[in-house]
Amino acid sequence: MTTAANDASAVIIREVKRFVDKEVIPVATELEHKNEYPAALVDQLAEMGVFAMTISSEYGGLGLPFVTYAAVVEELSRGWMSVAGFVNTHVIVSYIIENFGTEEQKRQWLPIMVEGKQRFAFTLTEPDAGSDVAAIKTFALKNGDEYRLTGNKMFVSNGRRAAYYLVLCKTDRNANPPHRGISALIVDQKSPGVVVQRDIEKLGYKGLDTVALSFDDVRVPVTNLVGGKEGDGFRQVMSGLEVGRINVASRAVGLARAAFEDAIAYSFQRKAFGKPIFEHQAVHMRLADMATKIEAARLLVKQAAEKKDHGERSDLEAGMAKLFASEMCQEVVIDAMRTFGGYGYTKDMRAERYYRDAPMLIVGEGTSDIQKIVIARALERLYKKE
Ligand SMILES: Cc1cc2nc3c(=O)[nH]c(=O)nc-3n(C[C@H](O)[C@H](O)[C@H](O)COP(=O)(O)OP(=O)(O)OC[C@H]3O[C@@H](n4cnc5c(N)ncnc54)[C@H](O)[C@@H]3O)c2cc1C
Repeated sequence: MTTAANDASAVIIREVKRFVDKEVIPVATELEHKNEYPAALVDQLAEMGVFAMTISSEYGGLGLPFVTYAAVVEELSRGWMSVAGFVNTHVIVSYIIENFGTEEQKRQWLPIMVEGKQRFAFTLTEPDAGSDVAAIKTFALKNGDEYRLTGNKMFVSNGRRAAYYLVLCKTDRNANPPHRGISALIVDQKSPGVVVQRDIEKLGYKGLDTVALSFDDVRVPVTNLVGGKEGDGFRQVMSGLEVGRINVASRAVGLARAAFEDAIAYSFQRKAFGKPIFEHQAVHMRLADMATKIEAARLLVKQAAEKKDHGERSDLEAGMAKLFASEMCQEVVIDAMRTFGGYGYTKDMRAERYYRDAPMLIVGEGTSDIQKIVIARALERLYKKE
């Protein structure tokens, strides 16, 4: 990192920490319990430049490395996991456009994305296809200078409030292998035929809209085909998912840290058998395990982000970080709950929110099973002798 990037990174991390302590934590539980969209917090994210963090300065962005992005996402998630979710889809799409879009597309879309006022959602999953990306059915038929897009998408995070969608679709249903027939289109939410079918009720991850979406013969200009060439969508999106996995893994570190910090603070105050519960070996050993696992996850995230910053393929590192961090987070939130005794099970404590938020991280951006497949394939590439 250059000195200027180092300084800019330190400034944004400090600013985000302050924002989380002063603006997010005091309101998170109440807004989360009401499932209320935190409009003021999202506006402040845009003002701080969080949506523009990873976009190059050439297009007006801050041009900061993914290592800094990971640290910022960890901080946001420490306050409220959903806040980091508002940023994720936007950053994945900006990464895809900047790395795979035509120069014209970069000039058209990236300055809008830098502002962070009109945000982008990312639509891969369908009612009948999630892990099996090549099985998507949404189809775009080319007709002159436009595509006619038809299909259904499921679990679209930020889907109700997004101004644009990056839509993964088939442009060739007969391609062999099928993933070679997949392309990515940028679709304006206001286009006739785009319908938000319903908001999906969730266990946690509240305040953030997750919707089912349909496209009914939507007209999309051919100039909105990312990279200008059909059949490149699968590769583009897989690379974008590495960025998404860095986000999810960082969120897991931040959420686990929040749970750990609440638990250790409580352990110094709560007394049982005449002494603070921290003094009981079973309690402090558990806290030691929690802290160690969080540090290990953070190092894996850093390794994945550094690889991405060097422009290298990071499926192995991002897969390991996402797998380890999300599973670790699941364990840490329940251990935090144990530390609170009965109070951890009440809505008076944040532990119940952490407990409801954590499972999303073991599913979103690919389940743990899928991460293991990604890791195993990368290991095969590295270790199998011909
Ligand atoms: C709150 C939330 C927000 C989301 N946001 C978005 C979003 O913004 N955009 C988007 O596109 N998607 C989004 N998703 C979708 C998410 O990425 C998928 O749910 C996830 O990838 C799993 O797909 P699926 O639900 O279809 O499960 P399936 O693919 O049906 O999997 C079901 C089970 O089978 C297992 N499985 C499947 N294939 C294999 C295999 N080959 N080997 C071993 N096990 C396997 C899975 O691990 C899982 O346990 C979101 C999901 C949630 C819950």
